[in-house]
Amino acid sequence: MGSPRLRDVLQRIESAVVNDVLPLIVFDLDSTLFSTEPRNLQIFHEFVERRQSDYGELRELATQIRREHMGWNICESLRAQGVENQELLEELLRFWRERFFTDPYVLHDDPLPGAVEFVTACHQRGAMIYYLTGRHVGGMEVGTVRALRDAGFPFWRGRCTLHLKPSFEMSDKAFKDDALADIRSYHGRVVATFENEPGNANLFLKAFPDALHFLLLTVHSPEAEAPDPRLIRSDDFQLFSTRAS
Ligand SMILES: [Mg+2]
Repeated sequence: MGSPRLRDVLQRIESAVVNDVLPLIVFDLDSTLFSTEPRNLQIFHEFVERRQSDYGELRELATQIRREHMGWNICESLRAQGVENQELLEELLRFWRERFFTDPYVLHDDPLPGAVEFVTACHQRGAMIYYLTGRHVGGMEVGTVRALRDAGFPFWRGRCTLHLKPSFEMSDKAFKDDALADIRSYHGRVVATFENEPGNANLFLKAFPDALHFLLLTVHSPEAEAPDPRLIRSDDFQLFSTRAS
């Protein structure tokens, strides 16, 4: 269920607009607006199709494994399912790396429950939607735009921007650090940010102490720093309990 504080975001957008200030909302994509579980699962099934003759244990695993078993790292997910064959895990990791960060595979992601409706509600009330993602230019930009549009997120409407990492090699955190300057260049009011990585959410809290900062309880990197207790935890973007399923 989404946090009740999601409603506060909509109210803060309205009050910024009334005061002639541009409200900005920052949304991360992977494991924030989109669940990457279906992308991971698709890659795993393709690996099974190609390599099940070499690794017999994959056949049974393929029938059991579901999207909810997909964690941060595909190898950790399989280890949790009892796979110990190191050669298999290393090959899978290589196979996964060649696909996960590419245009066609991001199309497998699903939006988190309520995400499309919530971002649309923010945009309709007058917020600038700032999609900020560690996905890189030169391999993921076309698929990312298509995934946003296919899911129904506001995009070609004005007051929306998509900021990707300029290169694959740049670290996610260094990139988000740089991005703060771009966000500030609008001279608006950052009303809220949404992230799944505690380190990035902490960074936003430090940069924009008056905003509401949400931490999506999906998956995060294993070496993540401790989340600041002031971050607002939320499972998804569902505003209305009657719509929850
Ligand atoms: Mg993320």
